[in-house]
Amino acid sequence: MGASEFQRARLRVARELAGLSQALLAERVRLTPAAISQFESGATRPSPATVATLSATLDVPSGFFYQPVVETHEGFFRSLRRTAVADRRRARAIAHIAHDLAVSAAEVGQFPPNTAPQIPVQSLRAAGEEIERIAGQVRAMWSLPAGPIDNVVDLLERHGIVVIRLPLGGNDVDAFSLPFPDHPVVVLGADKNDRARSRFDAAHELAHLVLHGEQIWGVKEVEKQAHIFAAAFLMPAEEIVHQLPASVDWARLFELKRHWQVSLAALLMRARTLGRMSENTYLTAIKAASARGWRRVEPVPLGNPEQPSHLLDFIESTASRPAKRQLPESVVTAIANAA
Ligand SMILES: [Zn+2]
Repeated sequence: MGASEFQRARLRVARELAGLSQALLAERVRLTPAAISQFESGATRPSPATVATLSATLDVPSGFFYQPVVETHEGFFRSLRRTAVADRRRARAIAHIAHDLAVSAAEVGQFPPNTAPQIPVQSLRAAGEEIERIAGQVRAMWSLPAGPIDNVVDLLERHGIVVIRLPLGGNDVDAFSLPFPDHPVVVLGADKNDRARSRFDAAHELAHLVLHGEQIWGVKEVEKQAHIFAAAFLMPAEEIVHQLPASVDWARLFELKRHWQVSLAALLMRARTLGRMSENTYLTAIKAASARGWRRVEPVPLGNPEQPSHLLDFIESTASRPAKRQLPESVVTAIANAA
């Protein structure tokens, strides 16, 4: 199971879970910041006694540092400016633990293999049509029937993508994803009590995994592309274009919201993107929605957000043997409780 050597990347994960900078951790374990930095870069390795101190200070089993590790980039985060760096790093570290759980679950046949396609965009200025086409390709590769997707979260899980809700209440981190090659992780906000938005978020993160993967991240163009993909994936153009109203017909839009399980905002945007609604009509609709407070809370609630279940089933089935996991159990519990 365990790697025989200290895995430098695991120290960063454990430190960020604890919300500590290298300097603060150094202070707590009475080492220099340079020493911590060298452990994390792999320039030097901590002695067994230091590992024991790090383990106690960071509240992770010492075996944690010797588990094999899969690395990836910083992740697909939106609104970087709004999110405190420490919150973002902590969220990312939690996603690492979710990934560890999925790897263990997959080893015993309790998590499906990753069958998410990778169809990278040709450019950051890729035309909307290219992205719409890729969204259609993914639907076809996954043999999805025409019409609304029944459960986006379950669909992702069945294709080997890890989905968790963020076990960090009251913070500013939106949905994000990490494109681990074996089991990518999608993290959905825990506080969004909105089924339509949560489905769109899940489809948006899927877009990053399909279109951008480990190749491109950290630029704003990828966000726009992910939005186009999500809209096309949830509402295929050829199916919805003739259902969308050309005027601000709320009764019709409410009906479509119920049927497609997407927000009114997404439907209006789709009507504009597909040229069904003029720019002026679209703006009139948005103004009317704002005036009624619908931009904060939309009418026609769709019920509870979709919940991930695959990882939770695994956590529950192994609840009696946490020691085997060599993971920080408080984080595992938080992941289980956030769903
Ligand atoms: Zn994004």
